[in-house]
Amino acid sequence: MGIPVLCTVDPAASCLRVCLPHRSVHILCGFIAGLESEFMETLSDEEVLLSLTQVLRRVTGNARLPAPRSMLRSCWYSAPYTRGSYSYVAVGSTGDDIDLLAQPLPEEGAKAQLQILFAGEATHRTFYSTTHGALLSGWREADRLIALQDPQAQLPGPWL
Ligand SMILES: Cc1cc2nc3c(=O)[nH]c(=O)nc-3n(C[C@H](O)[C@H](O)[C@H](O)COP(=O)(O)OP(=O)(O)OC[C@H]3O[C@@H](n4cnc5c(N)ncnc54)[C@H](O)[C@@H]3O)c2cc1C
Repeated sequence: MGIPVLCTVDPAASCLRVCLPHRSVHILCGFIAGLESEFMETLSDEEVLLSLTQVLRRVTGNARLPAPRSMLRSCWYSAPYTRGSYSYVAVGSTGDDIDLLAQPLPEEGAKAQLQILFAGEATHRTFYSTTHGALLSGWREADRLIALQDPQAQLPGPWL
């Protein structure tokens, strides 16, 4: 990654996190989250660039800082195959909801054989929103499949 710089754009708003990618002297990488990221996706590249330049000038104290030459950005919220970035526990939700997402179908106790298994970061109660959570959830479901074929199998889990 690089050196993180936290710039609070607005006290009531999300943080914009800016860092220098490894070995880069000409590129800045920024992250924005929450409602502001959804709003950002409604703006044109020119508007985002202008706004970013203002933020950078404010946090560096250099009113004449040149604007970045170009910008490349994701629009994960509006992209039809992502619709966001990764899961979080919303106000009013609990880890139990995550466990529910991880439950295979048909439900436990049903006579039919397992048909659909769910893995992915959003199904890991402890490490949701992370790559290792996604990996552990995959191992968990692989164990479930192995146990289905061989109930005596020695499995290394649970993948907490
Ligand atoms: C900007 C950013 C920074 C991050 N930084 C970190 C970090 O530093 N450390 C960390 O541990 N984690 C980080 N994460 C989170 C990590 O990347 C995710 O938690 C992880 O990739 C989730 O893996 P997954 O397999 O559960 O889901 P994904 O990687 O989201 O895979 C889901 C796949 O399903 C596909 N898909 C969706 N809908 C459909 C459909 N209808 N049909 C077919 N395919 C579909 C998607 O295109 C995607 O390829 C970061 C994520 C983001 C966005």
